[in-house]
Amino acid sequence: METRFTDIKAKEEHLLCRSYARYPLALVRGKMSHVWDQDGKEYVDLLAGIAVCALGHCNDEVTQTLIEQAHKLWHVSNLFYQEEQLDLAQRLLRTSHHDRVFFCNSGAEANEAQIKLARRYMRTIQKRDAYEIITLTGCFHGRTLGTLAATNRENLIDGFTPLPEGFAMVAANNINALEARITSKTAAVLLEVIQGEGGIIPLDPNYLKNVQELCRAKHILFLCDEVQAGLCRSGAFWAFQNHDLKPDIISCAKGLANGLPMGAILATEEVSQGFVAGSHATTFGGGALTAKVAEKVIEIMERDELAKRAGRVGLRLLTHLTSLQQRYPERITAIRGQGLMVGIDVTDCPTVWKKLLHAGFITGLTHNQTLRLLPALPIDEDDLLAFVKALETILAA
Ligand SMILES: *Cc1c(COP(=O)(O)O)cnc(C)c1O
Repeated sequence: METRFTDIKAKEEHLLCRSYARYPLALVRGKMSHVWDQDGKEYVDLLAGIAVCALGHCNDEVTQTLIEQAHKLWHVSNLFYQEEQLDLAQRLLRTSHHDRVFFCNSGAEANEAQIKLARRYMRTIQKRDAYEIITLTGCFHGRTLGTLAATNRENLIDGFTPLPEGFAMVAANNINALEARITSKTAAVLLEVIQGEGGIIPLDPNYLKNVQELCRAKHILFLCDEVQAGLCRSGAFWAFQNHDLKPDIISCAKGLANGLPMGAILATEEVSQGFVAGSHATTFGGGALTAKVAEKVIEIMERDELAKRAGRVGLRLLTHLTSLQQRYPERITAIRGQGLMVGIDVTDCPTVWKKLLHAGFITGLTHNQTLRLLPALPIDEDDLLAFVKALETILAA
């Protein structure tokens, strides 16, 4: 049965740009937290399309909404008013202290939008020539040239220079380093409350509070990238809410439309003034079909209290993993996470990851040293327990 996979792999080799290092399987079907490969083998999916299928694969309710809207209206462009966008915006704004939304199509685009809004707010409302965005080591904000400049990781920028100017990076969790870097040109600090691509690294709670205070004191904006940690995953609707923060702008994407491409920023009334008609736009952003689906996603997240559930279930998962770590302290070197966003540092991680795959568990392999778990929010606890057991069996062997 290996042949079908080999065929698919061979076919891709001369069709697509070589930009992806794929995991060695082709998935053909999914249902909630389970997926099946081309040979019919079933897997527990602990990655959920990198936190995208937050309500599970082919979630019945979301699929129903998608089909209904697909028969009604897909896309008309942002030249027209669309009530689907407004219903979604209303729902989104009820989850946060923000006042206005801008819709786009991805995490990188959402971060571009908040960077552009921060700059334009500084120039046109504050009348200050402040444009620099300060980010933190270990961050990830996207792959467009702007967000790549914000991310500034050596292996990601290789071959793509020159990057746009106006970005600076300081060490995470070091408030003095941040303070020293702020100048009259600084427009904002942009951070992930829990660094995702960095390997699931929650920033220090005191540091986060100090960053916000420093931003207020220096009259610069405080921006949060909630693309991965947002939308209930961290145990609160937004990760910043775990720390009583009030960022001026946040970005979100990944889980927003459960697999359809969609991103958004939420901004305060004050800062939102940075955009006027014509300042920023996107053809696809907030189209009727994606907006209707996203509205359903948020409705279900709130109705089923999935933030609370993620916090509760995530805590139990961490307890199991910690006790596993106590039995294999030389193998599990660190466990980090909050809610259903967990990173497990394991020695010989690629081998463990591969054995997990073989045993029917899909996890993320991050920096060849961390198993990353970002399961669907309604995942059965039995699936998580089965994962812990499989990991134990592999470590015991
Ligand atoms: C995934 C991710 C992005 C980029 O999102 P894309 O949709 O791939 O552009 C940005 N920030 C964070 C924190 C992410 O996890």
